[in-house]
Amino acid sequence: MEIIHVSAECYPVAKAGGLGDVVGALPKYQCKAGHIAKVVMPMYRTKFLYENEWTVDFKGHANLGNWFFDFTIIKEKNNKLGFDLFLVDINGLLDRQKIYGYDDDAERFTAFQIAILNWMNNWEHQPDIVHCHDHHTGLLPFMMKYCYDFGRLQQVPTVFTIHNGQYQGWMGWDKSRYIPRWDLWKRGMLDWADTINPLASAVKCASKITTVSWSYLDELRYNANGLEKLFDYERGKCMGILNGIDNEVWDPATDKYLEHHFTVKTVAAGKQKNKELLCERFGLDKDKPLFVFIGRLVGEKAADVLPEAIMSAIGNSQGQACFLVLGSGETQVEWQFQQMIDPYRGLFNAVIGYDEALSHLMYAGADFLLMPSRVEPCGLNQMYAMRYGTVPVVRSTGGLKDTVVDMGDKDGFGIRFNNATSGDIEYSIGRGIAVYKDKAQLEKMWKQMMQIDHSWESVVDAYIAVYESLR
Ligand code: ADP
Repeated sequence: MEIIHVSAECYPVAKAGGLGDVVGALPKYQCKAGHIAKVVMPMYRTKFLYENEWTVDFKGHANLGNWFFDFTIIKEKNNKLGFDLFLVDINGLLDRQKIYGYDDDAERFTAFQIAILNWMNNWEHQPDIVHCHDHHTGLLPFMMKYCYDFGRLQQVPTVFTIHNGQYQGWMGWDKSRYIPRWDLWKRGMLDWADTINPLASAVKCASKITTVSWSYLDELRYNANGLEKLFDYERGKCMGILNGIDNEVWDPATDKYLEHHFTVKTVAAGKQKNKELLCERFGLDKDKPLFVFIGRLVGEKAADVLPEAIMSAIGNSQGQACFLVLGSGETQVEWQFQQMIDPYRGLFNAVIGYDEALSHLMYAGADFLLMPSRVEPCGLNQMYAMRYGTVPVVRSTGGLKDTVVDMGDKDGFGIRFNNATSGDIEYSIGRGIAVYKDKAQLEKMWKQMMQIDHSWESVVDAYIAVYESLR
């Protein structure tokens, strides 16, 4: 089967979060399973672009409203990622340093999608499936069905995967002029609450919708940032498929970012060496349990309650645990963490920014990973943590609920709590401090979690079954 993945992110080309990890891995494992999976994404100015060789695959032009633009599709020459990778270059629009966060993101991603359809419309054959990821690609199912210029693609089935339903790509109706000549009777397929809503449009128009965990699919019916009714109505074509992790990238025995490798047999010594490196670098006490947080410092991740929770945990436990935070996001939360560094020196440190290498060392060297997320469609961090023998301390929501079993339950290995509040987090940290002293229990938990199979190999078949159902 030929599957075209369209995404704004793909690791290691450009990644802001879990979407990048998934799109960097799923196609690779689909190819390994004998399919032809390809990825198309915008050409940003990233390190990967300059360090690799490219050929020009297609040159074309299109319109975004009144603006006429040229675009070029380039292809990576050496199959570096295990699948064909295509980048869409639109001069001045996509070729920027960051993936998101510009005032003209609506224009950028709409032009990106129009360019892709113009390109595919020129192929001699049609792909079997177009697989779109998140709202940046949400207009594709509509345009394939209802834009007169893309009639050749009308019958190609589309799958839309929701990695994060909070962001929907809303734009005013004034921007409807960007969409190439379309069947005006189908206005309702773009609209939600009187705006063009690309995520809602994809839910309406795609042949099948998937979410990245089972529990998240349930939750969307009562917590979907305004789209609850739509998810309830369309539930018949939605299904949850839990994400996998790329075991080649995330393997404590071979991880290219680690100096000290380990396996389930050498986990105690291996983690200790990585922890020593971390503690030395960040001035923390290596003999105390180390709790870390890695992620976007935003409300969704409940990063705003962490400063208070960490300060109370340090105060009330009389400094029995250390904490290290890596992330960036809301200015207020970044500032709070920075303000905590001096007064809590020796017990707390924070790195504000994005650092792939450091994140790997933290998964390897930490004892506990904190994830108090208010919303977590799947969550990859807890799965990486489990593979590296780091106990996940998570709120029971979405994918966290589907992947972490509390240590009080049969075969449990993690710590779960119900509310994203300072009290619940502090209580869970207390449970962590207690189990850290019980080495026999901790070893049992390491063994349990490190042997769980979250590989993509075990997930690929579920996606193929979805595609097959649409042929
Ligand atoms: P998200 O909602 O951000 O997509 P996920 O748990 O699905 O959350 O995936 C987050 C991914 O991004 C993980 O690979 C995590 O290690 C990585 N990550 C998040 N923030 C940072 C950071 N500041 N530095 C390095 N890696 C990060």
